Amino acid sequence: MPFRFARVPGVAGKVLVTSEVGEFEFLTETEFRAFAAGVMDQASDTYANLQAKHFLVEGDASTAIRLVAAKYRTRKSFLRSGPALHVFVVTLRCDHSCRYCQVSRRAPDESCFDMSEETALAAIDRIFEAPSRTITVEFQGGEPLLAFPRIRQIVEAIEERNLSERRCFTYTMTSTLHLVDDEMLAFFRKHGFQLSTSLDGPAGLHDANRPMPGRDSHRRTVEAIDRTRAALGPHAVSALTTLSRASLGHPEAIIDEYVRLGFPSIFLRPLSPFGFAARSAQRIGYTTEEFLRFYERALAYILKLNREGIRLQEAYTVILLTHILTPFPTGYADLRSPTGSGLGALVYNYDGQVYASDESRMLAEMGDQTFRLGSVHDRYADLMASEAMQVLLATGVAEALPGCSDCAFLPYCGADPVFNLTREGDPVGHRPTNEHCAKHTGLFSILFRYLAEADPHVMSTFTSWVTQRPVQCLPGAEAA
Ligand code: SF4
Repeated sequence: MPFRFARVPGVAGKVLVTSEVGEFEFLTETEFRAFAAGVMDQASDTYANLQAKHFLVEGDASTAIRLVAAKYRTRKSFLRSGPALHVFVVTLRCDHSCRYCQVSRRAPDESCFDMSEETALAAIDRIFEAPSRTITVEFQGGEPLLAFPRIRQIVEAIEERNLSERRCFTYTMTSTLHLVDDEMLAFFRKHGFQLSTSLDGPAGLHDANRPMPGRDSHRRTVEAIDRTRAALGPHAVSALTTLSRASLGHPEAIIDEYVRLGFPSIFLRPLSPFGFAARSAQRIGYTTEEFLRFYERALAYILKLNREGIRLQEAYTVILLTHILTPFPTGYADLRSPTGSGLGALVYNYDGQVYASDESRMLAEMGDQTFRLGSVHDRYADLMASEAMQVLLATGVAEALPGCSDCAFLPYCGADPVFNLTREGDPVGHRPTNEHCAKHTGLFSILFRYLAEADPHVMSTFTSWVTQRPVQCLPGAEAA
C-alpha cells in the first residue's frame, strides 16, 4: 500500500514509515529495505504489525482498501459540514498596546471601528445559510468587551432564530477580561461561554509584552481570571502565551506561573508574522530554530511536572498528538488539509467584510485582499464560490503541494496558503525555505523522537492528553 518515510533526527538506526491514513511504524534499516522491496519475512512480528496497520496486504486487497477508505473518511470528516467556526470581530478598539499585536488596534474612543447592528444581523444570516449543525461563534477584537452590547445582541438574535433551526451553538470569546463586570459574567454564564485570555508568564514578562498605562496588566489579568472563575467555575477560562524574544529564556518560569494559577493547559504560541507583529519582528522576533529549542525545553519540563503528579498539558502538542495517535480530526482549523481557511472558518470583520480566516483579515490590514471572500451581504453560496475560495482550494490541499505530497508527516500536518502568501508572496509556498514547514517538521520530529523512545510514563501522559482522561484512569493503569 502507499507509504511515506523519514529518518527522524535523533532516532538512530530506525526509519519512520507512515500510511495514507496516519498509521506509523519504526523499522530498522534492514526491515525498511525489505519492506520497500516487497521481500519481508512473512513470519516476523514486524510483518504482522505492518499488515495489521494496512501498510501491506496479501491477496485480494478490496477489504483492506474499504477499511482504509473508512479511516480516510473519518480523518477528513471535517469536510462534510462546511465552516463550523464563525468569528465576529466586533471592534478593533483596544486598551492595550501589545508589542506583538496581530491586529491594527484602534484607541478605545474610536467607536467608528465597531461592528454595526446591520452588519451583525447580516452575518447571522450567513451562519444559518451554512450547512453545519454544530457551530462555534467566537467573539474577538480588539478588545471585544468594549463592544459588549453588540455581543449580547448577536447571541440573543442567534438564540431566537435557533428556536426553529435547532442547531448546536457554542460561544467563545478572546479577551483580556480586564473590563468584565457582574452583568457580563451573568450573561456569559447563562449562555455557557468559554473564555480565553492572554497570560504571558510571570508579572515582569507579561507586563513587558503587554504594556498598559498603569503597567499593571498582569495584576489585572490575574484578578479578572479569579473573578471569572468565581462566577463561572474553575475551568471557565483558558489562557495562551504569546512568545516574544524575551520569553524564550524562561520556559520554566512561564509554565510555573500557569501551575501556580491552577491552569490545566498552556498554549505556547509563537509570534505571528501578521500586523504589528511583523513590523516589530526585528525587536521581539526570533528564528524557527530558536522557537523549537524553547519548545523542546518547555515540553521536557511539562513532562517532568506530569511525572511528579502535576497535570498540565501543552495545547498545541495535544492537537499534534491527536493527529498522530488517533484517527479523528480535531476542531483546529489552522492545521488541516484541505485548509481550514474558508472551509472550516469564516471571519466577519467589524466593517462587514468576510474573510477566510483571521490571518486573511490581518493580511488585508497589511494591504493584500487576496483572501477576502466578499461582504456579509453576499449569500453564503457566493462567498464559497468567490475568487478567494478558488485560490484557497487550488493551493490549500497539502496532498497536492510540492514537498508536502511525499512528506512522512503529511497525514498530521496541514496546508496554509495565507501564511505562504504572507511570507513568500505565493500561496503554494516553497517547502525548503518555508517557516510553517520548518516549524512543523521540527515539532513532529520532537514528538516522534518521544514516540520512538516509548518511555512508559511519557506514553501514558500523551495518551491521557489525547483522551482527556487522567493517567490513573487509563486502561491497565491499575495493573501498572
Ligand atoms: S508543511 Fe512541511 S512538515 Fe507539513 S506536510 Fe508539508 S512538507 Fe511535511
